[in-house]
Amino acid sequence: MPFPPRPTSGHGTVTRFAPSPTGDLHLGHAYSALFAAAEAARAGGTMLLRVEDIDVTRCRPEFEARNLEVLRWLGLTWPEPVRRQSEHLDDYQAALDRLKEMGLLYRCFLSRRELNEALSAPHGAPEVAPKDTDLLLPEKERLKREEEGAPFALRLRMARAMERAGALTWHDRARGKQDARPQIFGDVVLARRDIPTSYHLSVTVDDALQGVTLVTRGEDLFDSTHIHRLLQALLGLPVPDYHHHGLLRDDAGKRLAKRYQSAALRDLRADGHSAEDVRRMADPDLTVE
Ligand code: GLU
Repeated sequence: MPFPPRPTSGHGTVTRFAPSPTGDLHLGHAYSALFAAAEAARAGGTMLLRVEDIDVTRCRPEFEARNLEVLRWLGLTWPEPVRRQSEHLDDYQAALDRLKEMGLLYRCFLSRRELNEALSAPHGAPEVAPKDTDLLLPEKERLKREEEGAPFALRLRMARAMERAGALTWHDRARGKQDARPQIFGDVVLARRDIPTSYHLSVTVDDALQGVTLVTRGEDLFDSTHIHRLLQALLGLPVPDYHHHGLLRDDAGKRLAKRYQSAALRDLRADGHSAEDVRRMADPDLTVE
């Protein structure tokens, strides 16, 4: 399959809200969704909704249904059909094939436990970000696992990838120009042992295919953008603008939000709060048409 395929949507500013159906949405999610919608509305653009459900071990269809329902109740709208990542594994595979052709991926047969043990072993200096993890497994053992068809993750050869991409920057609307520092992730996993993709790969491919021009998300995901920027460069994808917003819990001024921050939106609704109340709790400054 040619990569990248042409984007399927996108005129003007396109933002997205991309929840994972691993549980009920709470006020922090409402803030993030309202933020994405407000940024799109301000520019006369569109907010897309994307279901990030690649983690089959944690995602549940009933959470997806509940999440979309409560977002609609909040007053949010988005074009249908929504993109569900689990239905687009081919797109992620095409990206992996491309990176493989460039010689930038390797198979890592180590389990998480083995990796932790190897990295904290007295002779292998502990590292925050793993590097060359294939070297941690004796060659004989690696070949044996390969022959047995043991499961493996696909990791990016970070040093080679960065050399190939050269120096990169990206722009965050809150913090300005950023130098991309993907090396903080080491040889990052792009396809997991149990799932043929990863958060970083899927999100980068999807944002490009969906024509997203402004990625808004919480600042807890700020560092991920270093990797996403590198993947864009390697895969020839367009580079959106970014706005990593503060997290609700950081803002001591929002007393209501503080009180309810761990409450699920559907519980607030069941307790009799109106959609407008909840929108105000999530962010009193935001208005969504
Ligand atoms: N699916 C991610 C989450 O629920 C959000 C990913 C993103 O916005 O890039 O935290």
